[in-house]
Amino acid sequence: MAAPRARREALVLGNWKMNGDAASAEALLAGVQAGARDLPGVAGVCPPYPYLALAAARLAGSGVAWGAQDVSAFEDGAYTGEVSARMLVDLGCTWTLVGHSERRTLFGDTDAEVVRKTTRALAAGLVPVVCVGETLAEREAGATEAVLARQIDAVCPVLRDAGERCVLAYEPVWAIGTGLTASPAQAQAAHAFIRARLASGGVVAAPGLRLLYGGSVKPSNAVELFGQPDVDGGLIGGASLVAADFLSICRAAAGRS
Ligand code: PEP
Repeated sequence: MAAPRARREALVLGNWKMNGDAASAEALLAGVQAGARDLPGVAGVCPPYPYLALAAARLAGSGVAWGAQDVSAFEDGAYTGEVSARMLVDLGCTWTLVGHSERRTLFGDTDAEVVRKTTRALAAGLVPVVCVGETLAEREAGATEAVLARQIDAVCPVLRDAGERCVLAYEPVWAIGTGLTASPAQAQAAHAFIRARLASGGVVAAPGLRLLYGGSVKPSNAVELFGQPDVDGGLIGGASLVAADFLSICRAAAGRS
């Protein structure tokens, strides 16, 4: 179900994870901001929470958006250590990642938790970037589509009314931070499956939703991955920590046919 590409603008988000310090965040923001001048609307960064205000100060008006790596499932109140969607809006965030595989595997985020976080993000006016993907064992067991279906079906009810204010990221767990990358054909097959599953789950905006691929994207493989009809950009981990590499990936997305 490859919908016409023209409707979907390229998007590349950098997930900095828990790396660096204020000095390296400042340098990275400056590098991205300077290099993305000719890429308005394509690039976004997700720094650690403590550097979101710095991102807001450095990136405002630059055409580079910023967002968070996670959001609380709760609205407000006695939830020590949590950061609410409203707080992220106060920091000028456009996006928040939800259900990144590291949250799912290391911190126990379940499908139900992902739904609650997505609901909070949407209610506050953030664009949720809902991450889905299978483990290596699941792929080898032939369960990739079953896993994606379970993860997508969980969020469909909350995405139905979001229109195009949401993004999905397909991130095969076995490709995150490992140097292994899904082949362009594997990525396309998963993206087409996700788009079709969203549509059959009642998400009528599915043809216009941006689906990002994540998992060891590098300047050397970005062009081929982003050339797939249902791959609308990327969610980039390691390579987003080097401004030149991240920008090169953004250019590959902007130039995709
Ligand atoms: C990620 O963590 O979302 C990711 C895709 O990481 P990497 O690019 O390092 O594989």
